[in-house]
Amino acid sequence: SATVLSAQKLGLDKRTLPHSIVEVISTLNKAGFDAYIVGGGVRDSLLGLIPKDFDAVTNARPHEIKAIFGGRCRIIGKRFQLAHVYSGRELIEVATFRAPPKDDTHTTDDGMITRDNVWGTIEQDFARRDFSINALYYQPIKGEVLDFCGAVDDIKNGTLRLLGDAKVRVEEDPVRLLRALRFKAKLGFEFDKALAKQFNDTSWTLLEQVSAHRLYDETQKMFTGGYLAPLLPLLYQYGAMSSLMTYAQPKPTRLALQVAKNTDERIASGKTANPAFFYAVLLWENYLHALAKFKKKGLPFHEAQIKASRKVFDAQRIKTAIPKFAEDFISDIWFMQPKLVSPKPKDVGRLSSQGKFRAGLDFLIMRERHDDSPLSEPTNGMGVWWQRYLAVDATSQSQMLSALG
Ligand code: ATP
Ligand code: MG
Repeated sequence: SATVLSAQKLGLDKRTLPHSIVEVISTLNKAGFDAYIVGGGVRDSLLGLIPKDFDAVTNARPHEIKAIFGGRCRIIGKRFQLAHVYSGRELIEVATFRAPPKDDTHTTDDGMITRDNVWGTIEQDFARRDFSINALYYQPIKGEVLDFCGAVDDIKNGTLRLLGDAKVRVEEDPVRLLRALRFKAKLGFEFDKALAKQFNDTSWTLLEQVSAHRLYDETQKMFTGGYLAPLLPLLYQYGAMSSLMTYAQPKPTRLALQVAKNTDERIASGKTANPAFFYAVLLWENYLHALAKFKKKGLPFHEAQIKASRKVFDAQRIKTAIPKFAEDFISDIWFMQPKLVSPKPKDVGRLSSQGKFRAGLDFLIMRERHDDSPLSEPTNGMGVWWQRYLAVDATSQSQMLSALG
């Protein structure tokens, strides 16, 4: 049983919503179905933040959603079907109310998983969500918000609370702990007592059982959400880092903190941030360490570089499944560092027209300003040199090149 609140009294206004989400909900209503905005879109709107996107939930089944929207609807997913509905240029995710995980599947005698009990009521859909603040249902046409658990109070008090028994919800899905840290960093909320107790070694061990692919996806959200600077120290303080990274240090490096700040600024100004760049920073000391070892063994420099990067990725892949193209991006950044520090004049043109050049140079600039690792080679002011080189005209460029030689 939900408390029905007035959207207007909560400061929500249909007119500030994108046309697309309102259109999708009203189309579902006209076809006789219930439909709501749920999750981050409601939470962030109530906090006066601009939501990343708006997700819809409905009691219409996927095939019914398809029948209503026709050509502008695509059903995706196998076991848990989900509708993608286009409204104008926007894509809205429309999910059908789902039952909690225990009822999700029904195994028949011959071991076949059937889809019998996947769908549920709005109450069941509510109960399977993670945090109270993510479990509000907003009906913008009627101007109503359904609150099943005092979620609006949690939003007002700045409390992050797992629905149900916190221990059980973490055992069900330990990724919720990473989500908790993410929301704490983003919203500045405090954990309630039951949630706070779940940050312990037992839980982090459970997290290590989660698929490396899913954990990579989570790190991607953490690195590109726009609040990495407050999040990074939390990941170390609460003990998450050793489950995510190989040979994690007890606290973030100065370089990592500064790059985190930079990443947030990029995102705030509408630029993109490549999560692999932050991986290059986090794994930098591991790489330098491995590189020193292979150099000591007498390997040629380039071979030592390749062996060192492989060693770092082989170890890291067990924790988070960095895709191959991201690994290549990271090693390109690392391998470029000594070349940028001691460029031969004849190589400068080729270096600067390389695809990964900008990322490699950004890495060098950040190192020049903030890297205090004892293993790191000096950059000899070459970060600044390259910045100047790129800013001046062709005549000054050739002067800079002859001064180099
Ligand atoms: P963000 O601003 O990061 O997108 P969000 O709350 O929208 O935040 P999503 O990952 O987009 O987060 O998920 C949408 C909704 O799905 C959540 O608000 C929550 O209700 C539910 N949800 C997501 N992940 C989980 C999970 N691991 N366990 C339970 N519910 C979840
Ligand atoms: Mg979302």
